[in-house]
Amino acid sequence: MNKLLVVGTVAFDAIETPFGKTDKILGGAATYIALSASHFDVNTAIVSVVGGDFPEEYLTLLKNKNVDITGLEVVKEGKTFFWKGKYHNDLNMRDTLDTQLNVLENFQPVVPEAYTDSDIVMLGNLHPAVQLSVLEQLTEKPKMIVLDTMNFWMEHAWDLLLEVIKKVNVITINDEEARQLTGEHSLVKAAQKIATMGPEYVVIKKGEHGALLFHGNQIFSAPALPLEEVFDPTGAGDTFAGGFVGFVAQSGNISFENLKSAVIYGSALASFCVEKFGTERMESLESNSLTSRLQQFQELTHYDILLK
Ligand code: AMP
Repeated sequence: MNKLLVVGTVAFDAIETPFGKTDKILGGAATYIALSASHFDVNTAIVSVVGGDFPEEYLTLLKNKNVDITGLEVVKEGKTFFWKGKYHNDLNMRDTLDTQLNVLENFQPVVPEAYTDSDIVMLGNLHPAVQLSVLEQLTEKPKMIVLDTMNFWMEHAWDLLLEVIKKVNVITINDEEARQLTGEHSLVKAAQKIATMGPEYVVIKKGEHGALLFHGNQIFSAPALPLEEVFDPTGAGDTFAGGFVGFVAQSGNISFENLKSAVIYGSALASFCVEKFGTERMESLESNSLTSRLQQFQELTHYDILLK
């Protein structure tokens, strides 16, 4: 079985959407990525950090999903990373109300020895210095390195972020962040510019409008499943990334054709994530539900066209 190494925040989130509000629930980029990747036949490990305030039951939850957490450091006297966000009526828009780095501030990641030769590395959202340190600890070149980041790091660690971007094969980024990173409004131009910075594949996530995969002159467009009810989009981007890398890690194939399927798997998994608050839906998701949603995706996008 291939090995997938996931780096990213493991966090407390406080979320407000037009449909309700939560106080300090389980969140974090690595959490969503790992929960999503747990639907594939891969060995997955997380590198991250939490404080002594992080409940044991959350660690058990990850372990029960077969996620290796030996690289998840617990700083007993520290506090877990905290993020607070509020969504507008247009759920594609959100404001970050608070980001408290806490234990992340002085975090020195340690990649578990068994994962220094990982096949796929997912650099989830977290300080670019930590992402770089993880790459430096690898003893073998992975088949694929995927990076996800956000505006926060563009504003706080620009130079280091550019250094990471140079080293990865794939970047997954949302539309607004792609624009912020490149200064280009057109997503096609933004993707072309990002490709000159390093990654040979660029995935631009557009929330409820789906995702675009760019590679050279090729573009693949995947829709998001039109859902009757979206409760909370938090973690959708990370869940997408987890499905994307989980599928690639399971198949071990990094061709454009295969990455198209990875985008669909990522989109299908993300469509579950938004149905409930926080990680709730991903915690209970069964594989047969995923299969039927993939079929829905196929029906949604398949058509024959008669060319004159
Ligand atoms: P998404 O909705 O996919 O962008 O991801 C939301 C998750 O990202 C939340 O669970 C947060 O804990 C986490 N998050 C928010 N801000 C940051 C940040 N600056 N760095 C890393 N993770 C973050």
